[in-house]
Amino acid sequence: MLHLSRCVKCGVKATAKDGKYYLCGKHWLEIYAGKFKPCNECGGEGQVEYERSVVDWSSGGYLEGYMDDCDKCNGSGELEYDI
Ligand SMILES: [Zn+2]
Ligand SMILES: [Zn+2]
Repeated sequence: MLHLSRCVKCGVKATAKDGKYYLCGKHWLEIYAGKFKPCNECGGEGQVEYERSVVDWSSGGYLEGYMDDCDKCNGSGELEYDI
């Protein structure tokens, strides 16, 4: 079945795709002109520090910090528009 994709913002035939959203050329440009908001969880870094517990028999274990892709933005550092 042929699926015709339309811009999620204005409904015209989409010519670009951003993540799971289809966009027309105009809206794609608008987003890439800086209308993406930086992720507030990682501050736009895309990575955030998490802690994990490490078992250590001599000291009883400790929390170890490690960097990983931000859960909120999936490592992109940007949040999508609420559509
Ligand atoms: Zn559009
Ligand atoms: Zn983030």
